[in-house]
Amino acid sequence: MVVVKSFHAPLQIPEVDLWQLVFERKDRAFPEDKEIYIGPDTRRSYTWAQARNAALEFGKGLKSQWGFKKGDVLGFFSPNSIDYPPVFFGVHWAGGACSTANPTYTAKELAYQMKDSGVVGIVTQVPMLPTVLEAAKAIGLPEDRIILLGDARDPTGKFKHFTEIRGSSGLLGLSLRPRIDPKKDTAFLVYSSGTTGLPKGVMLTHYNIAANLVQLGHCDVFNGIYHSGGIDGKGDKQIAVLPFFHVYGLTCIALQSIFMGLQVIVLPKFDLDKFCQAIQDFGVTFAAIPPPVVLALAKHPSVSKYDLSSVKWVNSGAAPLGRELVEQVWARLTIPVMQGYGLSETAPAVTKGNIADWKRFNGSCGKLLPNVEAKIVDVESGVEKGPGEGEGELWFRGPNVFPGYWNRPELQKDTFSEDGFFKTGDIGYVDKKGNFYITDRLKELIKYKGFQVAPAELESVLLGHDEVADACVVPAHDKVRETEVPRAYVVLRPNVPRTDAKAAELIAWVEGRVAQHKRLRGGVRFVDEVPKNASGKLLRRVLKEEARKEDQRA
Ligand code: AMP
Repeated sequence: MVVVKSFHAPLQIPEVDLWQLVFERKDRAFPEDKEIYIGPDTRRSYTWAQARNAALEFGKGLKSQWGFKKGDVLGFFSPNSIDYPPVFFGVHWAGGACSTANPTYTAKELAYQMKDSGVVGIVTQVPMLPTVLEAAKAIGLPEDRIILLGDARDPTGKFKHFTEIRGSSGLLGLSLRPRIDPKKDTAFLVYSSGTTGLPKGVMLTHYNIAANLVQLGHCDVFNGIYHSGGIDGKGDKQIAVLPFFHVYGLTCIALQSIFMGLQVIVLPKFDLDKFCQAIQDFGVTFAAIPPPVVLALAKHPSVSKYDLSSVKWVNSGAAPLGRELVEQVWARLTIPVMQGYGLSETAPAVTKGNIADWKRFNGSCGKLLPNVEAKIVDVESGVEKGPGEGEGELWFRGPNVFPGYWNRPELQKDTFSEDGFFKTGDIGYVDKKGNFYITDRLKELIKYKGFQVAPAELESVLLGHDEVADACVVPAHDKVRETEVPRAYVVLRPNVPRTDAKAAELIAWVEGRVAQHKRLRGGVRFVDEVPKNASGKLLRRVLKEEARKEDQRA
């Protein structure tokens, strides 16, 4: 058995729930009036104590006004806001879990996730109300279970703001927390398609997230990040452009900042000028970003208008990043770009770059986090490979690895090895110094700018078109945007002409039915048949290879 171990000494992971980890910790080294979440446009902010109080009031309100019980799930459908974390923690105080959805989803996509996770309510913002109402109707959720966060209130007064759901009862039972088992109880139900099929709920326990916060916190200190000191005495500051609904922004920014006592400038969405302006205005010192933002830092002319010299480093994750861009950012801005790697299923990080050696191992996504073990397993032979012995499927074991998919016990066997390693479906290798490199993906998943696209979902949309007999969707590469894009290989019904107009029609067909990140930006190709094995299983790798060759020729 070849198990790759972390070079970090093992850490003690506290067996507490997230409320206790963040708000009842004995070793908190920063003051409770430290401003943590800052909304740059509104200048609204939460200190640690204000976030705690808002969460507590909301948690009590959920219990007393909604009869919210342990294990209940609240859905989230909102762009980033400083209100996200207090709502998360309110749910956790009351013993529930949070199911976060992409706010660009269509009503149908939202309804799928909200129904699957069995939410008792949805928190959203005013502009998203029409989509939420449609989804709520589809799943039979009463309208009074839709509440708001963010700056705007509902002008009609029909939908309450979360701050209006407050603990009102003096009854003792309603002001007590339910008992939470950190290793068993789910804190977040994020959605991922995993290695195959449609999105499913990834159960992240309190312990999984607590572990990743402690593991990442250790690495952050290693990388020179601290809650005090610095030019203005306020310590390091980060900026949130990653969405909080995705596990990367959720753990590494929304939760990490309050756990570590770090200020975070929260932007509702990515806008390059606002991003650079906020870095300059607030003296942001580090940032977790996806590859397209690295691309902008490397190439976009607007970046030159701003002083970004406060930034010590940025971390790129969620999707592959080319080595050239890392070098271009360094040449242009002298900002080191490190990489981290992880998945929804690992809460998320399993590896992270170290500032001491980022330049030597540029292109690597870093070394194992403390308490994480890995195996590299040859896909054909099943042989386990050690450092420097070549690539294979990456498997991980550790306190941050999820226990399984929500309501999908039949997937356990394929998801985990007998000795408890999670099989990622990613291909990579580790060098002799312990640096990991991701080289390919065994699983179906496509990542458009870090956002998940499940091919099975697009194939089912395409098959819903009368003239489509069969379809297979695979990743293609968009050189200009530096991202994967979905490309469809389509078999048309007999006598339907293969024209450019038909391809455009199918692209539009998909566009009208899915969130914008799932559009067929890689185009449509017509084929006689979609390759399948003897038992009828799609052989995606054949078409993935075809797409790769076509992109190389272009
Ligand atoms: P998600 O569950 O949405 O976080 O997606 C996880 C997947 O994103 C992984 O299985 C990888 O395929 C991909 N991914 C994440 N980080 C990286 C990285 N640094 N380099 C390459 N792929 C990555």
